[in-house]
Amino acid sequence: MKKIGVLTSGGDAPGMNPAIRAVVRKAIFNDMEVYGVYGGYAGLIKGDIKKLELGSVGDIIHRGGTMLLSARCPEFKSREVQQIGIEQLNAHGIEGLVVIGGDGSYMGAKALTEQGYPCVGVPGTIDNDIPGTDFTIGFDTALNTVIDAIDKIRDTATSHDRTFVIEVMGRNAGDIALWAGLAGGAETILIPEENYDMNNIVERLRKGQERGKKHSIIVVAEGVCSGVDFAKQLKELTNNDIRVSVLGHMQRGGSPSAQDRVLASRLGARAVELLMEGKGGRAVGIENNKLVDYDIIEALEQRKHKIDLDLFNLSKVLSI
Ligand code: ADP
Repeated sequence: MKKIGVLTSGGDAPGMNPAIRAVVRKAIFNDMEVYGVYGGYAGLIKGDIKKLELGSVGDIIHRGGTMLLSARCPEFKSREVQQIGIEQLNAHGIEGLVVIGGDGSYMGAKALTEQGYPCVGVPGTIDNDIPGTDFTIGFDTALNTVIDAIDKIRDTATSHDRTFVIEVMGRNAGDIALWAGLAGGAETILIPEENYDMNNIVERLRKGQERGKKHSIIVVAEGVCSGVDFAKQLKELTNNDIRVSVLGHMQRGGSPSAQDRVLASRLGARAVELLMEGKGGRAVGIENNKLVDYDIIEALEQRKHKIDLDLFNLSKVLSI
């Protein structure tokens, strides 16, 4: 392939910019031309496509968000609309497309691939919920943001003897809640992958209070329930002074961490290598710190992202 395209789609994630940079620089290093598709699949069907040069991706490695912008485009689920996307790519002579995004974006890349247009998926989402990779680009930065918030909330929780319920993102996955809860020393972590027992949570709070612990941090993944509803329920059962903090979209912003920049650089460059080898229809990832790639259709249909339940059990032991 001599001409490739790159787009970012779905929820943005810190680290998308270093991934775009890696795609562009790796391609130009190998004498390929690169085109940026602006605004995800919505921009693709409108033909919002521009050639990118080495300088186009200068000074973005440390910036959050995505210079190519992102969008939701529900109509891209239709085959006719996907065909328009393929026509736009063909009109620019673009032979393959790197799609940086989450599982919805992967579905779009899979659909194009099934229609004979080669795409490579790069996992970019803070949720860490993509099959075929241990980590997604953006997860580490989001974790650091959440831990920073937990640490600050802990200061005020301690001063006022309060229980805090902190609701974090992650869609249907509990990875952000689990990792940030463990790293932030949360007393209780609720994830959608495991049922919880309210009586048990109340009992743990009571036992903690008996041994003189006056504050407590409970991290709730958004995929479990709303933090506000959970706090209401807990207040009725304990009569504790309970406050809620819903962290929200701040978790999607910020300068990407070193870990995310390195991951994005490796995965972006690997995606280009695959297209150079003429291999479309792949999804790149990292497993046990080694770069891997899977058939994108197989990855989505047969693999499943699994949360690390050993970590969950460890968090219970350490928050005794
Ligand atoms: P994310 O990629 O972060 O999971 P979304 O789930 O919103 O975000 O998906 C991003 C975009 O991917 C959607 O707006 C749509 O354009 C495209 N997409 C999602 N699901 C499909 C599908 N089944 N077929 C084709 N395109 C899809």
